[in-house]
Amino acid sequence: MSVIDRALSQIRALQPYRPGKPVEELERELGIRDAIKLASNENPLGCSPRVKEVLAESIAQIPFYPDANAYYLKQQLAEKHAVAVDQLTIGNGSNDILDLIARSFLTEGREAIFSQHGFLLYALVTQACGATANIAPALPRDSSQPYGHDLAAMLERVNERTAVIFIANPNNPTGTWVTGDALQQFMQQVPEQVVVVIDEAYFEYVLEPDYPDCSQWLQQYPNLIVTRTFSKIYGLAGLRIGYAISSAQIGDLLNRVRQPFNGNILALLAAQESLQDDEFVAHSIENNLDGLKRLAHYAEQKGLFYIPSVANFLSIDFAERAGPINQQLMERGIIVRPIDNYQLDGFLRISIGSEYQMTRLLEQLEELL
Ligand SMILES: *Cc1c(COP(=O)(O)O)cnc(C)c1O
Repeated sequence: MSVIDRALSQIRALQPYRPGKPVEELERELGIRDAIKLASNENPLGCSPRVKEVLAESIAQIPFYPDANAYYLKQQLAEKHAVAVDQLTIGNGSNDILDLIARSFLTEGREAIFSQHGFLLYALVTQACGATANIAPALPRDSSQPYGHDLAAMLERVNERTAVIFIANPNNPTGTWVTGDALQQFMQQVPEQVVVVIDEAYFEYVLEPDYPDCSQWLQQYPNLIVTRTFSKIYGLAGLRIGYAISSAQIGDLLNRVRQPFNGNILALLAAQESLQDDEFVAHSIENNLDGLKRLAHYAEQKGLFYIPSVANFLSIDFAERAGPINQQLMERGIIVRPIDNYQLDGFLRISIGSEYQMTRLLEQLEELL
């Protein structure tokens, strides 16, 4: 028996996560410059200028371990969400939080429920723990939330093995969302021993009046965990920082599993400063709305089906042209994301860029279509 044979079978069977292609890699491969990446839902405006200042001043702190309890960041987050400090768990990105939840609640013989076309990390962390994925079919293409989460179908799958339910609101890569009323009804029917994770990675971008802030529901639901991130609207994806809001009891569990220094010293400072720059957030929302409208309008004009999105990306159905268009856009220095690995063959997910980036994208698409 080889050492590889002794690796856990669920780990050997894992499909590695396929990230968006880095800009430098494409530029290196094609010998071009000025490539743009619209493939990882990053903030095209960067991050707050105030964060850059703080980081420049903080370089001297790199030799020191960060505060393992993230005292100052947690103070700010506790105030923002009106929760106690012990209801917060800091993650190395919110993906880290998803992993902590899986390691705390999932193992062989237990099940996690999530939606078809749901964020891929749910499948990954579930399998890594040896648990079974119980995947609920999505809403149909002709519904008001095409390919979105079908909460009734998810509820139907709950059984005595169910330990965790993952819900992305809004979901990536569909950009679909569920209303506060629908989620409340759902929560009331989930057995109390089942953890429900509401992943709110794109929370700040959503302006729909019926869109819920589930961080306000923790008193009511001790089995609820809400996750947030600084990777998306705050533009700190490269620093890796996110967090969970839960009951203090669940927080205690997650914090035991967590590596003590998973929030690095620069990330903690950057997150703290980010929370204070409302202007940057407002500007990012505005840029996103403009870009979303332009791209959706363009798709409509061309008679292309797209999934209406409340997030910072739009998934468009190019059908059999998806492969060639993806390739040709790449040759023209524009990286977008095929999502066939989400069972959405023919779709390309395009992150909303800056005004200039969207102009370039639309010009190139116009030539290709
Ligand atoms: C991008 C994203 C995240 C955030 O990942 P980080 O680890 O915080 O960078 C979480 N959930 C969903 C659905 C996402 O699309």
